[in-house]
Amino acid sequence: MLRGARTLSTACSVARRASLARNLRKFPLQAKPHIPSTRSLASAAQAQAPTHTPTPESSQSPVRTQDLPIVSNDAKQVAVGWDTRTWSKFHNIWLRDHCRCPKCFHAITKQRLLNTFEIPRDIAPLTVAAKPDGLEVTWNTSDAHISLYPWSWLRFNSYDPPSSSFAPSPSITDDGKPEKVLWGAKIQQSPPTVTYEQVMEEGDAGLYKWLENVDKFGFSFVTGVPPTPEATEELSERIGFIRETQYGKFWDFTSDLAKGDTAYTTLALGAHTDNTYFTDPCGLQLFHLLSHTGGTGGSTLLVDGFYVASLLKSLHPEAYHLLSTVPVPAHAAGEPSALYQPSPVRGYPVLGHVGGSSFSSGTGGSSTFGGESGKEGEGELVQVRWNNDDRSVMSHLEPAVVEKWYDAIRLWNKALTSPDSQYWVQLTPGTAVVVDNHRVLHGRSAFTGKRRMCGAYIGVDEYRSKLAVLRERFASDPVLEATKDIPESVVAGRSVWHTAL
Ligand SMILES: [Zn+2]
Repeated sequence: MLRGARTLSTACSVARRASLARNLRKFPLQAKPHIPSTRSLASAAQAQAPTHTPTPESSQSPVRTQDLPIVSNDAKQVAVGWDTRTWSKFHNIWLRDHCRCPKCFHAITKQRLLNTFEIPRDIAPLTVAAKPDGLEVTWNTSDAHISLYPWSWLRFNSYDPPSSSFAPSPSITDDGKPEKVLWGAKIQQSPPTVTYEQVMEEGDAGLYKWLENVDKFGFSFVTGVPPTPEATEELSERIGFIRETQYGKFWDFTSDLAKGDTAYTTLALGAHTDNTYFTDPCGLQLFHLLSHTGGTGGSTLLVDGFYVASLLKSLHPEAYHLLSTVPVPAHAAGEPSALYQPSPVRGYPVLGHVGGSSFSSGTGGSSTFGGESGKEGEGELVQVRWNNDDRSVMSHLEPAVVEKWYDAIRLWNKALTSPDSQYWVQLTPGTAVVVDNHRVLHGRSAFTGKRRMCGAYIGVDEYRSKLAVLRERFASDPVLEATKDIPESVVAGRSVWHTAL
């Protein structure tokens, strides 16, 4: 099933980032464009090159002029021809606003210095030139400001057309960033696992492997963890700050209903994500069974929400659309001292997306939900929120949608609880698991006896930040690779052309 899941992951758009990165492998500059008419434009621009300080040319990459992209401009935009068929257009205001020269961008703090609102509305290039390091623009301002934009950076940030639309090049090799792998029950044959020793060792290579597992599969085991709260807390803090909630910071509990939540009972819990009642549910949950005495049961259930969503999308697109658009309110109200609801209180859809065909539509909009309009593409699935036990009153549905919505969650529940989707594992002391709470649902079977669990939440931003820093160290990035020799690009340990900036 894992093989099938890989196919599915390609069919869905979760692999888009990776393929986008692969596209960038095209650079630096393998294509030999041949467009005589526009060539002359670029040559003309170069011929007019001003007397200002020219960009120092990289000595290590002797790129001949005919290998460079073609550049031309009109009153509003600059066009860059990557090859004879692929062009990107950039508005003058966009280019000027994104200048990364030391006057416009603080190379150490990586913050904008340029006052965007002082850029004239009719800003335009005096000249544009294709240089080995990138597009050089001399602006028509009184100071004849010169900006340089590396080719790889421009291609990565292309919005007209979006860089994701560029055809991948078969010669491009993998950039080391794994694609997400969607999985079903057969993940049990080789679940992603690292050892405690690896994660805790100096040098962070094991930590990187752990977090890459989480990014790729949505969870990862850690074996060989000393079965103590102290060791588990230390393990959690390898990733980042523990996120304190109403359940405490690092939690260590038994089934004594110490907190008003079914997690603190011996009841079975269906597959769910945590914190549906938060505006921003925790990113990762780490848990570790410290002991289980005098009873049986209490298997752990993991379900890949992205996999189940991909099934639903192909089999029941209408249901998928409803789950992607109808917000679901939720609450945590079992403690008299706390009453949590997300903001806005109508909540968020079960399936959260970004970058649909109408980028600005988001999850906002009208006050009633479920209309048949808006059948545009949902965009990329980025978050699953599902805890039917915590759901509040659905008083915001259009009457005609009520039964359709219940049918939709019935189909969702059927796919979630299918044996093909469910990965059951009996955890034992010494094996901790970390779960991406925005993707993988967790649950457990009922149990008897006494179980002691400990664990922690870690915010999604802490996790993503740690992973990004580790990728800077351990993974190659095509844009950073292509820009590393440009003068003044790497300052204080990080390039001004980092694609996160
Ligand atoms: Zn500048």
